[in-house]
Amino acid sequence: MPAQQAGVSTRVLAIPTGLANAYAIPSPDGVTLVDTGGPGCLGRLRGALRRHGIALSDVRRVVITHAHVDHTGSLAALLDACDPVVIAHALDAPFVRTGTNPPFAEPTSLGMFDRLMARLSSASAAPARVDREVDHDEPLDEIAPGARVVHLPGHTPGQIGLWLPDRRFLIAGDAAHHLLLWRLSLPFAAFTSDMEQALASVERAASLTPLGLGLGHGPPLHSLATTKLRQLLRRHGRVPTASS
Ligand SMILES: [Zn+2]
Repeated sequence: MPAQQAGVSTRVLAIPTGLANAYAIPSPDGVTLVDTGGPGCLGRLRGALRRHGIALSDVRRVVITHAHVDHTGSLAALLDACDPVVIAHALDAPFVRTGTNPPFAEPTSLGMFDRLMARLSSASAAPARVDREVDHDEPLDEIAPGARVVHLPGHTPGQIGLWLPDRRFLIAGDAAHHLLLWRLSLPFAAFTSDMEQALASVERAASLTPLGLGLGHGPPLHSLATTKLRQLLRRHGRVPTASS
């Protein structure tokens, strides 16, 4: 059933896949999926979409926020099941195509906890195609009116968010985590290539003054997104400006 007929046309749907969230955005021609979950998540993805009246065959586009395996791991399996256009930033697209992670932080710069986490992170994904490479501010009006790409580098060089101004909702990959339910935190250092850049990307996210925020890890925020992003910036010594 086309998603619009299922009565979900103005919502961003959080699709839990296990370790990382995917998101589904009903579009005039079907559904845009943002991320796919890790390897082996296709069944969960299918089940979660079905609960919203969406079949895999409704998926017209897949936006990959960044080339980490817990976000791209089921892309290859998804492409065996349907035929969407796959969109990713030019800097992360090569890693999606090879099924590898972009470089993580230098282990010498990490504390013991992060070094241990880094050692556990050697998983890889099946290689998958990317059809369209995008960059910052690129319009994606086919997804929603005014929708555009927001480059949020730092966690990976080519991490992108998807800004949906018609509902003031930002899907932002792992630009921050929402694992502590009362506040946001920066992404784990072990899996982040440049933490200074990651902090600048939080400033960029806050400058959009979103109401809602969909992150890869932890429940989405449907309000107070800008307040919580600004609190995160202040905790890391940044003074949010009027526009952030
Ligand atoms: Zn990540």
